[in-house]
Amino acid sequence: MPQLLDGKTALILGVANKWSLAYAIAQAFRREGATVILTYQGERLRQTVEELGAEIGASRILECDVTKAEDLARLAELGRLDVVVHSIAFANREDLARPFVETSRDGFLLAQEVSVYSLVSVARATAPLMTEGGAMMTLTYLGSTRVLTNYNVMGVAKAGLEATVRYLASELGEKKIRVNAISAGPVKTASARGIKDFSKILELVQAKAPLRRNTDPAEVADMAVFLASDLGRGVTGDVLFVDAGFHIMGL
Ligand code: NAP
Repeated sequence: MPQLLDGKTALILGVANKWSLAYAIAQAFRREGATVILTYQGERLRQTVEELGAEIGASRILECDVTKAEDLARLAELGRLDVVVHSIAFANREDLARPFVETSRDGFLLAQEVSVYSLVSVARATAPLMTEGGAMMTLTYLGSTRVLTNYNVMGVAKAGLEATVRYLASELGEKKIRVNAISAGPVKTASARGIKDFSKILELVQAKAPLRRNTDPAEVADMAVFLASDLGRGVTGDVLFVDAGFHIMGL
């Protein structure tokens, strides 16, 4: 049976461990026949990501801290790419926990640099490699447009990220590169553990989402497959929700 990503090469940034949304995406991409390249942030994660990469048959694994120019320059040497997945975010734990008005300047700028500007710099490094067009995607959350308790500085970052998706989509469209964001429902990952009372959020979603359950990372990964494949060829600049429908609910 033909697979949806046969012949495509995908660069996936943001695998930290087996719970990472990026890892679910990497598994789904391999299932659909893509060649997969993974990156890890720094030496601390090298062994874990190498082991996970070996499990799924990743073709290459390289270091990339998105705040380092030399690491981004290395991406630009990868050769032809069809898909780029940006699954990266960071904010200081203190800035997520304290009242939003108390957000530190440094913490605000750090969240913007790692979680938003990195999409611009990754796109700049990799767009020239998408010589036959392609698909870029990032991961976002409902906290971009709604006030969600304890999401604070990261909500503002996600708003910037979604606007960045639209500006990139508008510019890169003429090169047949599509840029989208997947807005995932809450999933227990290392990043999510930084958000105070995260398990209460999971309980609330389970009770209130139209599907009366939480989001499975494999569902997020299947949306990524859709966007990466030719099935998604008419979709760009958009935010697609995979959250059991939670975002449609009011009181
Ligand atoms: P995760 O496994 O912790 O993934 C976040 C990744 O970002 C990690 O691999 C982390 O590496 C990486 N990262 C942080 N700073 C970096 C840097 N300077 N350079 C390169 N990589 C860096 O958590 P996740 O939940 O899968 O998060 C992936 C994306 O999904 C994030 O954008 C997140 O906001 C988004 N999202 C998550 C949820 C959720 O509920 N989990 C919902 C919606 C959207 P280190 O571990 O080394 O820091």
